[in-house]
Order: sequence, then C-alpha cells, then structure tokens
Amino acid sequence: MTNNETWQAVLAELELSISKANFITWFKNTGIISFDQGQVLICVPNAFTKAWLEKKYHQQIVKSLERIAAKAIKKLDYKIDNIKNLDQPVPVLQNNPVSVEAPPVETQPSYIPSPLPPANGSFTVNPKYTFESFVVGKGSELAYAAAQAVTARPGEAYNPLFIYGGVGLGKTHLIQAVGNALFKKNPHMNIMYVSAEKFSNDFISSIKEGAAKDFQNRYRHIDLLLIDDIQFIAGKDRTQESFFHTFNELHQQNKQVIITSDRPPKAIPALEDRLKSRFEWGMIADVSAPDFETRTAILEKKCQEKNYPLPIKILEVISANIQSNIRELEGALNKIIVYHQLKNIPPTVESVKLLVTNVNNTSSRRSLTPRQLIDIVCQFYSLDREELISKNREKKISMPRQVIMYLMREELKMSYPSIGDELGGRDHTTAMHAHEKVRLEVENDLKLKQEIDLLRQRFYVNNI
Ligand code: ADP
Ligand code: MG
Repeated sequence: MTNNETWQAVLAELELSISKANFITWFKNTGIISFDQGQVLICVPNAFTKAWLEKKYHQQIVKSLERIAAKAIKKLDYKIDNIKNLDQPVPVLQNNPVSVEAPPVETQPSYIPSPLPPANGSFTVNPKYTFESFVVGKGSELAYAAAQAVTARPGEAYNPLFIYGGVGLGKTHLIQAVGNALFKKNPHMNIMYVSAEKFSNDFISSIKEGAAKDFQNRYRHIDLLLIDDIQFIAGKDRTQESFFHTFNELHQQNKQVIITSDRPPKAIPALEDRLKSRFEWGMIADVSAPDFETRTAILEKKCQEKNYPLPIKILEVISANIQSNIRELEGALNKIIVYHQLKNIPPTVESVKLLVTNVNNTSSRRSLTPRQLIDIVCQFYSLDREELISKNREKKISMPRQVIMYLMREELKMSYPSIGDELGGRDHTTAMHAHEKVRLEVENDLKLKQEIDLLRQRFYVNNI
C-alpha cells in the first residue's frame, strides 16, 4: 500500500465515526509525509488543525493507522505543510459529495450600486463584548480560537464561521468580540451585526415597501456580517432564499460571515439543505456549559468589571449553585450586588448562599419531569409525542426514542420498567437495550454527543 492509499483508508474509517462537518474541517488537506519504521509524519494545513488533531483525534488516528497498515506506530507527529508538496498529493475527500470549494456563481438580480456607503448603523454592538472580557474555558476554547483566527485573517481563515450552543453561553459575546476587534483595527471596515430575526423583518418590510434593492445594497456590500441566532429563519422560505443570496455574494467577495445558532446546521429543522451545506463550508465550533473553575473565573472577571470585588469563597458559592449558563451566573451576581447595596451590608458566605439557593431552586435538576424531558427531546428533533410513543421503527423516530430512554436513566435515574411505561408501555428490556446502545454510541459519535449535550442544556435552561 502506498502512503496515499493508507491515508485514504484511514480517512474512510475516521469519516464513519465523526460528523461530516468535523471531518471536512479537520481532515481537509491532510496526508502522510513519511511513514518509516513505525514513525509517521502527517501533513496538516495550519497550526490550528495541528493543535486540534493532536488534542482530539490523535488516538483515533494512531489506532486506525495501526490497524490499516498492520504495523505498530511508535511515533506520530504533525507538520504544517502544503499538501501539494507531497510526492503523491492526496486527493482528500475525492469520494465525498460535499463541496468544500468556492460557491458556484448564483444568478443574482442585478442592482445599481448605491453611491452612498452602505449604512453601518446596524453595528450597534456592545463595546464590552471583547476578547479580553471573555474568559476561555474548555467548553469555549475552540469557538474562541476560531473567532480569533477569523479576526486575524477575515475572509480567509474560515468562511463562514458557525458557532453554536445553548442559551447564555457566550455566542453573541464572541461574535461581537470579532466585530469590536476588527472595528478597532480598521474603523472604515463595514461591519454589520444583525440578529436573524431583524434580517428577516428587514427583508419582509423591504418587499412590502418595494425596496428590495435597498435591502440588497444594505446587506450585500459589507465587509463583515455577524448574524446571530440563525435558527430563527428555519421554516421561513423566502428569508432563507434571500439569506442564501446574501451569503453567496459576500462569500464570493471573500467577505467574512459569522453565524450563530442554538444547534449545529444539520439539526436545524426546516432549514434548506443548500444552506446547511454552505454553513459547513468553513468551520463549525460549539460552545458548551462552563465547568466550576471557569464559572468562578468568569465571576471574578465580572466583579472586576463592576468594580465590586468579592472574596473567592463567595464566588465559589455562586458558581457551585448556578450551573446552567453564564447569563444566569451574571444575573445571580447582579442580584447579590443589588441586595447587599440596598441593605448596606457586606456580602458573606451565608447571605450569598441564601440568595443563590433561592435563585437555584427554580432551575434545579430535580424539577425536570419525565414528561418535560420527552417534550424537550421531541421539540429538538421536530417530532410529535404520538409519533414517538408509536410503534414506528423508522430511524428518525427510533433514534430520538432511544435518546429519551438513555436520558431518563442518566438524568432522572429512573428504573427501566418505569422508563418503558413512560414510553407507551414498552418492555423494560427495550429500555435497557436502548440505554446501552446510546451509551456506547455517544463515545464514538461526535454528532450524537453534541446533540445530547445540547439537550442537557435545554433541560436545565428551559426549566427556569
Ligand atoms: P448567548 O448569545 O450564547 O446566548 P451571550 O453571549 O449573550 O450568550 O452571553 C450571556 C452573558 O454571559 C453576556 O453578558 C456575556 O458577556 C456573558 N458571557 C458568556 N460567556 C462568557 C465568557 N466566556 N466570559 C465572560 N462572559 C461571558
Ligand atoms: Mg445570543
């Protein structure tokens, strides 16, 4: 087997275990530079990919290579190089139908360029949302690094950058940080921050007023488009169509587009496939809930900003009790500050504990019922409760059903017989098998893991 063939076989194997978006992002333009006496050198296109492969996929790559080459690997390193420098350039993704090339030229309605510069009044971002004020934790490191890469080379590094994750986890903060940083670097840059909702409203009113050209001028002549909560345009066909053209126009001109969403492109129901595939062209990064240490660090930073320093013991009480998201965390901190200022007393561990346990009671895990869990999962996968309970064994229904059984066991610690009962009187062995199946799949299937993480976030955020 040539190195080229070996690597193709490794890629084919890896492709099965990770989502297509991740696969394309991380394995595009990779190849084997040398493979000699158990020492392997892998070519990667940039430092970011290098770091990510080392950190997240190293074991998988080594294992797969060992299996395919039937040789033990003693050492495997990554080198930043252009794939074209390899003796045998690897036609990566040759069998993959997803295009990672530049978008095809769409027929655009012609427009007369406006003599005035496009209004950038929509760049009403929060000046406090900067990279400096963002505390990086495990759950946000990829999104943060990607946002910085895009700031360093807008339109070149990753276009589009797609950031997704639950409510209050810093998506808006991060994309506005890109806007703020680029605006500082170049105040003439035309930057637009807009929620998908506003985009949609603007589009609708432009049709009503016969001002489609103005709309196009406004949205297609910008250098950086930050579009927040794109899931909002799901099911809105004409807005999607308009966004599709806007996106293509900007992308063709190498203008950076950054998109946020509450879930990955694939999981947005009623979103056109052509948009989903465009969203996967660049980089997809998630933000997930911060751990205890990160929550404490975020609180410390917010206290500094508010000029209200609190001892670490008190910060830890807050972060131990507020786990759902950062917006909640900040809300709790504000409440603590206001309370003590009004009473004119210094905060103590006891007084803070009292306040945060009150906040927390309403969002605690214990208040999630099996019924709510089912509803949240159904909503996430766009299914009816009846369909879910039915005997239908199609994968699009049986998979969410199994996810529910898994989550009932993991999150609510329910017995298998009662899980079976909740799902229309299924046998307890069915619940047991479903739990085991999902438990094993989650370890290898990144997409499923992400979906389950997102669902968990919803359980505890939606409950408030
Ligand atoms: P999302 O858009 O994901 O719903 P936001 O970006 O609006 O969340 O964040 C909610 C609040 O939490 C904001 O005030 C933001 O500044 C703060 N926040 C979120 N993540 C971080 C972080 N990593 N470091 C500092 N503040 C954060
Ligand atoms: Mg937001």
